[in-house]
Amino acid sequence: MNNGKKIHNFSAGPSILSDYALEKSAQDIDNFAGMGLSVLEISHRSKQFVDVVDQAQHLVRQLMGLNEDYDVLFLQGGASTQFFQVPQNFLQQKAVYLNTGVWSQKAIEEAKGFGRVVVAASSEDSNFNFIPTSYTIDGDADYFHCTSNNTIFGTQMKSFPNSPVPMICDMSSDIFSKEVDFNAFDLIYAGAQKNMGPAGVTLVVIRKDMYARVADRHIPTMLGYKVHGENGSMYNTPPVFPILVSKYNLEWVMNNGGCAGMQIRNNEKAELLYAALDRSPYFVGTAETDSRSNMNACFVFKSEFEHLTESFDAACKEGNISGLKGHRSVGGYRASMYNALPLESVQALVHIIDNFAS
Ligand SMILES: *Cc1c(COP(=O)(O)O)cnc(C)c1O
Repeated sequence: MNNGKKIHNFSAGPSILSDYALEKSAQDIDNFAGMGLSVLEISHRSKQFVDVVDQAQHLVRQLMGLNEDYDVLFLQGGASTQFFQVPQNFLQQKAVYLNTGVWSQKAIEEAKGFGRVVVAASSEDSNFNFIPTSYTIDGDADYFHCTSNNTIFGTQMKSFPNSPVPMICDMSSDIFSKEVDFNAFDLIYAGAQKNMGPAGVTLVVIRKDMYARVADRHIPTMLGYKVHGENGSMYNTPPVFPILVSKYNLEWVMNNGGCAGMQIRNNEKAELLYAALDRSPYFVGTAETDSRSNMNACFVFKSEFEHLTESFDAACKEGNISGLKGHRSVGGYRASMYNALPLESVQALVHIIDNFAS
């Protein structure tokens, strides 16, 4: 899809999609479901498009192993809208948050507008380079909120607490990347543009019994989860094209072994890259070893080698490596290795790291 030139796409998001999803979607822009019309110019209530939503929901259920207690919603506004939609719906008195990065902080700030926020643990003092593991969750809280993968700092939760209250998780950057007991959560949300599809749709998976816990306040219709659940995620015009592309990308995940298959693939890529960083005399990973993310690997030059930045950047450019620049709050480099990134792209980057010499 890259005009014959192989670009290794390490973009943090929006990020690489499977060729399968891009090709199928391109066909549907031209002629969707044999209708002789583009998918972009038909009713979202046509049978052909309703089938797409049904299939996408079915794929999410299958890939996550969800039972019938959950609704699968395709909403708009990005994960950032979930930062306030969650507390608006469920924060009556007090909520507990785990603070593991910029996205957690933003969720915490939004929640404060609706009630009391207790931060169970935070790694802010060390610039979020690890995931706190020992903390308690108050049993009288309305819910517990965590962020499974910290896209900016390259840390990832390896396990989840046994929460005494409903557990809510922002899985924007590692959803469908590995096997997880998704049924342990009461609400999961993810902006699609990292590991699920293109920008423009947000996946929300919600346990239906959460509807009985909605806080006692006015909630605008569009922000009520129940409204979307009861209407099969078709209360109003949904983001048709992002849902379509996501459906194809999830089909690709399914055809490649589902979450278990992605886990094998992603482990292999991450092990290869972290091993190269660990043996490199020039670089150091910024995350603590046991908190390292399989999705986003953050690394910087050791201070005595910072003057080599330009020549490393040139070597990456020469090797068709794209999207490696680190987030401004960490600096250095960030290699995002989402599901669709092939092993050969990591091999190409490792080759450059291994052969880089001052
Ligand atoms: C990118 C990201 C967000 C923000 O998502 P938007 O869809 O841009 O609002 C939130 N949380 C995490 C973990 C992210 O990686």
